[in-house]
Amino acid sequence: MKSLPRQAGLSSRAPALRPARYARRMAPEHSRRFVGPADLHLHSNHSDGTEAPAEVVRQAHAHGLRTIALTDHDRTTGWGEAAEATAALGMTFLPGMELSAKHDWRSVHVLGYLFDPDDAALRAETDRIRGDRIGRAERIVRSIGRDYDLHWDDVLAQTTPDATVGRPHIADALVARGIVRDRTEAFDGILHPREGYYEPHYAPDPLTAVRLITDAGGVAIIAHPVTSGRDRMMPMSFLEQLIDAGLGGFEIDHRENTEAGKALLRELAARRDLIVTGSSDYHGSGKPNRPGENTTSDEMVERLIARASGTTPRYP
Ligand code: AMP
Ligand code: FE
Ligand code: FE
Ligand code: ZN
Repeated sequence: MKSLPRQAGLSSRAPALRPARYARRMAPEHSRRFVGPADLHLHSNHSDGTEAPAEVVRQAHAHGLRTIALTDHDRTTGWGEAAEATAALGMTFLPGMELSAKHDWRSVHVLGYLFDPDDAALRAETDRIRGDRIGRAERIVRSIGRDYDLHWDDVLAQTTPDATVGRPHIADALVARGIVRDRTEAFDGILHPREGYYEPHYAPDPLTAVRLITDAGGVAIIAHPVTSGRDRMMPMSFLEQLIDAGLGGFEIDHRENTEAGKALLRELAARRDLIVTGSSDYHGSGKPNRPGENTTSDEMVERLIARASGTTPRYP
């Protein structure tokens, strides 16, 4: 399997050192407090967002946000740059990640916040997922390449070094080749499973994902838990199992959740005394989602911080 090229610059430094540097620069906890509004789900080009972490932070600030979490898929390398950018703008930074999981055929995304980025078990799992995502993307591209003029190099040209590779990068390559207009058209067409090019990638069961985040001192929140269509809601009994295993809550205010689903999960969250969040799932120009289009209440941000023990927020 070919690996993504490593280039000089940010990500060629030993990745293990970056979280430590992040940790040393944190302000004393007792003297600081975050300020809202808070958006706890944004992506940079360390995964499938289109902007570098510092630019994501600037966009969030320009949209009026004062607390943000960077939640790249299966990767924490953007934390250092994002924390420097939030500090410069007087914002609070919550380190996060969107961990890929799978329940039956459903792709399930588990947001993790304030976990220890050096936790060995969690790192091993994210390494495995990211590694498998590369081979999977290559297989998808080979398959598409039989019908369209698309090559693996086209995808590499759309990724930053070591980025968590996903279908969005294949979409960007299809755009660059003039085969589709934008990511949305790619996902509605060629990249949709019904077209036959789709392949899954390795991902742990949601129970494992929740336990990994929780055992690393983090808070696990199911991202966009009630979308319509293929990835629709996991069975209620399974959600209860996830809560018993340490799940912290649900991302309820998200543009892809159905109204009926939101009502159902608000009830469950109230009954089990869980955290509920709202967020944009910003991906730069890769999706129409704008920073701050949904936000998380101060009370819920406080609960999330209080529940975590893996690391602390970076206050301004
Ligand atoms: P993958 O994990 O490689 O299967 O790709 C899924 C990712 O594609 C998700 O993280 C979304 O951010 C992104 N995605 C899904 N649907 C769309 C869409 N219609 N337009 C843009 N991005 C999308
Ligand atoms: Fe994404
Ligand atoms: Fe997601
Ligand atoms: Zn996301």
